[in-house]
Parts: sequence; C-alpha cells; structure tokens
Amino acid sequence: MSDLFLTGIGQLTTNTGAPLSDAVVVIESGVVTFAGPSSDAPDQVGRRYDCEGRAVIPGFVDAHTHLVFAGDRSDEFARRLAGESYADIAAAGGGILATVASTRNATDDELFQLAAGRVWQMIQTGTTTLEIKSGYGLDRATELRQLEVARRIGEKLPVTVKTTFLGAHSIPSEYRTDRQGYIDLLAEDMLPAAAPHADYCDVFVEDGVFTVDEARRIFERGAELGLGARVHAEQLSHTGGAQLAAEIGAVSADHLDHATEDDIRALAASGVAAVLVPGASYTLGSGHAPAPSLLEAGCIVALATDCNPGTSYFESMAPILSLAVVQMGLTVEQAIAAATLGGARSLGFSDRGYIAPGAVGDIVVLDAPSAAHLVYRPGVNLVRQTFKSGTEIDSI
Ligand SMILES: [Zn+2]
Repeated sequence: MSDLFLTGIGQLTTNTGAPLSDAVVVIESGVVTFAGPSSDAPDQVGRRYDCEGRAVIPGFVDAHTHLVFAGDRSDEFARRLAGESYADIAAAGGGILATVASTRNATDDELFQLAAGRVWQMIQTGTTTLEIKSGYGLDRATELRQLEVARRIGEKLPVTVKTTFLGAHSIPSEYRTDRQGYIDLLAEDMLPAAAPHADYCDVFVEDGVFTVDEARRIFERGAELGLGARVHAEQLSHTGGAQLAAEIGAVSADHLDHATEDDIRALAASGVAAVLVPGASYTLGSGHAPAPSLLEAGCIVALATDCNPGTSYFESMAPILSLAVVQMGLTVEQAIAAATLGGARSLGFSDRGYIAPGAVGDIVVLDAPSAAHLVYRPGVNLVRQTFKSGTEIDSI
C-alpha cells in the first residue's frame, strides 16, 4: 500500500495534545507514521489528499449500540410522547419484547441488510469502530444469529466491530412465570454457546429487569468463559449496577444517569470506563449522566449512540457530541476525546482514538475549519471523507 499524505489540515485533533494548525498526517500501510506541523513533515513520496484547510479528527469509536434488529417502533414512540408510560406499552406487548418478536422472525439476510444499512450511515458520518450487542433474540438461536450478523458487519464493511452478548436484556415472554429458569438457561446454555462469537457480556441491571445478584452470577459465568463485563447501570433508577461494575472489575458501566458521588468514586478507583449515551436520556426526556463529575474524578469517559429502536435511534455520533456539550456540560474537546479515545479505551484498543505514530489510519476529514462545527452545526453531516486504515471508505 502506498503512503498517503493528508496535507493542508486546518486543525488537527490528535488527542495527544492541543489541536495543531497547518498540519500533515502520513499513513503507511494503514498506520500513522507522522502527525505534526507541515514544517516538520517528511518529504512527500506517496499519494496526496489535500484537506484544503479543513479540520481532521480521529474516527469515532461508538462503544455501545444495539443495531442488529428488525421491526419498527415509531408508533410506540408517538404513544410515549402522548403520555403513555414505557411500563404500560411493555405490558401491551411493546418495548424490547416487540423488537424481540420482529428480530426472531427476520431471516439472517434481512438482519444483515438492516444492520448494514445503519452501519453505512455511521461510517459515512465518521464512525470507524463499533461495539454491537445482541439482546433482541432472548433465545439461543436468535442471540447467536445477532452476534454472527454483527461479526459479518465487521468482515464486510470498512469498520472494526466488537461484539457483546446481551441475552440478559429482558426476560422473554415464554419465561415470564419462570425467571429463574431463564437465568439458569443464560448461565448454563446461552452464554457458553455465545462466548465464541462475543468479546463481552452485558446485563441490563435495572428495577424490574435484572437484579445485582442475578447480574453477578451471569458476569461470573461470562468471566469463566473469557468475556469481559459491560454493565447497563443506573439508567432509569439507582439499583447498584455501578457498584457491581466496580466490584467485579467490569470493562465499562454504561448509561449512569442516576450514578451517585459514591458510584463515581468507585468507578474511577477501579478503572471502569463510563460509557455515556445522552441520546437515550434525550429521547426519554430524562436527566443526563454526570459527565463532568466523572471526568473530574478521573474516569475514562466514552460517548456512544446506544443505537436502538426504542430509546435512542441515532445512527451518527455528531448529534451525540452536540447533546454532550449543550446538555451534559462537556467542552467540545472533552466530547470529541470521549467519542474517539474514550470509546477506544473502553473497548480495550490502544491503537486508535488518537492520531499519532502507531495509530491505525482511522481518520475523518470534516467539511469545516474546526471540530467545534460538529457541535455548532449538528443538523448536517459535516464528514467530508472517512478513512479506514488509511483508505477512503468509498473506494473500499
Ligand atoms: Zn443499551
């Protein structure tokens, strides 16, 4: 692969120091070998891509999505806005279980096509690495199909994918009167079957969903099978998911809208990444996670879309950045770092989320002179070009 010289960069966000102006990035065999001022750049020997004064940032790392699903819940969205509660809608067959029914009925090919369409939107809006959860099967066969579709997305599209088994997303209707039976099935049957197809295991710890003790059992089984833990914690109420994440050494605690000062201290002390999803808080009209306090306490903070058909149907990171700055109180620089480097760290990557020698060439050129425009003009796609491992995505 020939060298690629990105020249004429008006503002370069490296995430290794202050943004640079009049910068150059050199990518060799898909990996960054130089990022710095044009005056220090090596002699140009390869192909040139002139950024013409535009801003350049690392590719987004979206560390929390549920994008493999079938069905449409726009009716439910309208009903919720008209005042019906999620509990009433779920009791009438809506909510997660409605998506479970549609997903079980979809073929592998339908699931792949639907997911790939969403992922193309993400790639075109600057996402280069993704986490994808199962959780709309709630039976062994469909959970496995979701994980396989997620892995196939990573093979067929120019995006890196990590997968998470979320069989503990809800109790399926066939186990409504036998929740212990479902938890046994998860631990003894579904998790071992899913483990070869997953990087992580996740549990929705919430009032009326899974308790801390139930989640601990599932995470312990996941750990035996080599799966790191990601925890849906403190989203709709405070139920102890964040403390559990700290106790078991989870990789991440996600949502955290109701996290307390004690939770924040525990997450920081145990190195659990806080994956924040302001799109869900926005869609539900609820409060946001305490993002500035998490950063001040020294937590790794990541921003993610939480792309799902019920509570956060975002297929682009730019509006998430905007919510993080306008509503959560992060600075533009903090939000961009969380959406790139924070996501990468929460997924265990040390080779992305920044632009410096050794990083993969996952890079986004914006149609704007500075990265602040992503937050300032959230209504349009400002991504001019996404590079995956140093190659333009439309030529892959
Ligand atoms: Zn989620």
